[in-house]
Amino acid sequence: MNDILPEQTPYWQHVENSFRQLMQSYGYQEIRMPIVESTALFKRSIGEVTDIVEKEMYTFEDRNGDSLTLRPEGTASCVRAAMQHGLLHNQIQRLWYSGPMFRHERPQKGRYRQFHQFGVEAFGLAGPDVDAELILMSNRLWQKLGMSDDVSLELNSLGSAETRQQYRKILVEYFSAHEAELDDDSKRRLQTNPLRILDSKNPEMQKLNENAPKLIDHLDAESKQDFEVLCNVLNDAGVSYKINPRLVRGLDYYSKTVFEWVTDKLGTQGTICAGGRFDGLVEQLGGKATPAIGFALGLERLIELLEIPEDVQHENNLNVYLVLMGEKALSKGLPLAEQWRNEILGLKLQVNCGGGSIKSQMKKADKSGAGLAFILGDDELEKNIITVKFLREKKEQEMIELSQITDYLKKNIGLIGS
Ligand code: ATP
Ligand code: MG
Repeated sequence: MNDILPEQTPYWQHVENSFRQLMQSYGYQEIRMPIVESTALFKRSIGEVTDIVEKEMYTFEDRNGDSLTLRPEGTASCVRAAMQHGLLHNQIQRLWYSGPMFRHERPQKGRYRQFHQFGVEAFGLAGPDVDAELILMSNRLWQKLGMSDDVSLELNSLGSAETRQQYRKILVEYFSAHEAELDDDSKRRLQTNPLRILDSKNPEMQKLNENAPKLIDHLDAESKQDFEVLCNVLNDAGVSYKINPRLVRGLDYYSKTVFEWVTDKLGTQGTICAGGRFDGLVEQLGGKATPAIGFALGLERLIELLEIPEDVQHENNLNVYLVLMGEKALSKGLPLAEQWRNEILGLKLQVNCGGGSIKSQMKKADKSGAGLAFILGDDELEKNIITVKFLREKKEQEMIELSQITDYLKKNIGLIGS
């Protein structure tokens, strides 16, 4: 679990702001869920025989003896919340959320025990139009963040529940015939959850998985038709993709469309964004059958991949550092700073606190990253002026009358007055 330090947070804010704007531009609304849920919720939704539930959850008993779990993902919580508050009764919901998720995995680059996701979920729409919308939306985010060249889209369809039941038999036959080649995990899964074998990260299983019968060749008519429509929309929108028949996702609730945005720039932690349809989940959790689709993207991996534009790096820099020499300047300076903040929308101004010589205050001003130092001392107070020093440009210092400061700031920092 990581601390995210002040030098990193501007990048997080940049990505968070971009995502929030993106959601607004598609008419999606934010929902915020608690970070803990009852353990049973995750077991029932994600599936007992998945990596997450088998070995990655932070589960504990609270003081009442109830079993709680730090959320390992957001979809289960989102469905629970939407059901509990009656958001799904004959309604369409287009929702998003963001926040920390917790999985007890082996920490490595791009894989942490507390990580952060943006999630999007649309309820009450059977697709494939909304499936395409979600993919186009994620595609727009890469464009917005200037990372389109780094990611590529993989698609698959998992068909209906019945399709998967039939396919399961075919798959079990295939893997049983090759039982000697299976690793221990896969041997166990052969009995419990054979589709999960295809999701194996073990390179030695790759060949066997590649030659396995493909679900996409056994799709039901409706899933097949929907998948074709989705592909057509993406073709028309100019979004390229690869059909990956081994894409099954690590959670049990998926059906029909599944997709991942992957990169080859982060080693084996190559999935940036992953999602799919989960038409059975609401009913499985006790609600009325409701079609649904969503995706989640990992912020750490996204930020790792991001090239941060110059202006973002400087977005949080101060405009002005106010140097105050002496007690009189102090009692005049803080109210003045308030006044300037009132008058100039977005002004970033830091007042020197803790006193100090002119030299030490100027050192702090320089370190603060501000463009200008305003100096207010006895001399200035007497003449009703501010001495302005340029900290980032070779320019002579200036004396500006106090009454002119607002105009001066507006002119010099290009800020809009309030
Ligand atoms: P992976 O295959 O890499 O284990 P996953 O299939 O378990 O990923 P999802 O549950 O689909 O991942 O989560 C969606 C996204 O969240 C992933 O694509 C990834 O970007 C991010 N993510 C998942 N687990 C972690 C983690 N432990 N640390 C950082 N990011 C993660
Ligand atoms: Mg995982």
